[in-house]
Amino acid sequence: MSDAQQDCHLQVHYISQGQNRLLDYHTGARMQKIGDRLEADRCSPAGGAAPTAAYVHIPFCRRRCYYCDFPVSIVGDRPPLARQTSSNSSFGAIAQYLDPLCQEIVHTPGDRPLHSVFLGGGTPSLLEPDQVQQILTTLEQRFGMVDGAEISMEIDPDTVDADKVKGYHAAGINRVSLGVQAFQLDLLQACGRTHTPADIDRAMDSLRQAGFTNISLDLISGLPHQTPETWEESLQRAIALAPTHLSIYDLIVEPQTAFSRWYQPGELPLPSDQVAADLYRLAQQRLTAAGFEHYEISNYARPGYACQHNGVYWRNQPYYGFGMGAASYMQQQRYTRPRTRAAYFEWVNKLQHQGWQLDVPVDPAQDTFLETVMLGLRLADGLEFNAMADIFGLAWVQHLWQFLNTYTDRGWIEWAPVLESEHHNPQHDEHPRSSRVRLTDPEGFLFSNVVLSDVFQAFSDEPREPCRETVKSAV
Ligand code: SF4
Repeated sequence: MSDAQQDCHLQVHYISQGQNRLLDYHTGARMQKIGDRLEADRCSPAGGAAPTAAYVHIPFCRRRCYYCDFPVSIVGDRPPLARQTSSNSSFGAIAQYLDPLCQEIVHTPGDRPLHSVFLGGGTPSLLEPDQVQQILTTLEQRFGMVDGAEISMEIDPDTVDADKVKGYHAAGINRVSLGVQAFQLDLLQACGRTHTPADIDRAMDSLRQAGFTNISLDLISGLPHQTPETWEESLQRAIALAPTHLSIYDLIVEPQTAFSRWYQPGELPLPSDQVAADLYRLAQQRLTAAGFEHYEISNYARPGYACQHNGVYWRNQPYYGFGMGAASYMQQQRYTRPRTRAAYFEWVNKLQHQGWQLDVPVDPAQDTFLETVMLGLRLADGLEFNAMADIFGLAWVQHLWQFLNTYTDRGWIEWAPVLESEHHNPQHDEHPRSSRVRLTDPEGFLFSNVVLSDVFQAFSDEPREPCRETVKSAV
């Protein structure tokens, strides 16, 4: 293994639930600094246009998984399908959350109909169908929704039955992200998951019967005791369920989790870096051979089924985030909400009485460039020269292109023609790289954190004054 390989930590999203995880690209102290900075300074080249994507956070789970450090309220192992009532203290907490959540939506400015909605968590499938209906109706009444809007919901296999998913379908959910994670009972138990492989099959049957045709499955690679053989089995069983989409997350051992107390990354029973890389390559081989497009580092889709909502994050476009701990990205600013229920309720109360407030003013220029690069390189489409040059200025993009070119010899970067749908800018014709640049699949994706770390270091220290003006005028 080369030095670069030894340094490499894989792309690590250990579960797809929630927008913030889209920025958890990296591990290690050096990369954490990047994550902190991106989280602190998010902004958008899409500028002041109101979002057309809404994320709604449902911060409740039955139990805490051993690898999870998300701020969620644990509501316990009551019979999962019993009706929630306010007399049940834990599940009453979910009911109590809905009113402030809907009040927040009602009091949020915006004048464009939504193209996508994503109910994430936590475990949104702890909600009853009428509660989901309440949220969707509130969104529709406040913003409107275009015909054919993608309305996704995360579902955990042991929290639903046939009637419940029928209710979700009737409420308007048209895309489901099912938290499978693994097909082996011992691996699921080793993660603290509450479901079994039989629950996965039952949930899939129920979803099909209810009429869902757009179903994504989440899998995690790099679990303790997972082997290439069990990973192969999980991939094959996932393919056999005929989903339209798969999200493959590589486990990261976060501080403050049970896993961090029990395990050392790279040491048994966790896979070595080399084995983890092999698991990534195996997924890429099996899923592309089965007809899935590897359209993003961690995501695969049947043609036409790429997740539209997550595409908004990857293209660094504005979005609403509603609920405890969620963040909106609008008017070139990032708006965060409190991460505890009491503080969130108080925040909503203030919102109702005082109106919308900016929480976190940010510099809209400097990190826009870096973030657009770092998010865009996650996509198989990569970055397009003309579009980047129009926003950030020719000089910066030429500099970036030259920098990325240094990875071509290692086979991590490749150049691709401009897509037909993209605009042509004759001003840039003289540039030898008037085209797309993207990470190769799978090797470039596998080592993307090396490339992105280098990009960050190379560009974050440079003054970018001309770029600031370009960004301001572009938005
Ligand atoms: S289901 Fe598990 S991993 Fe997902 S948010 Fe809840 S505790 Fe965390």
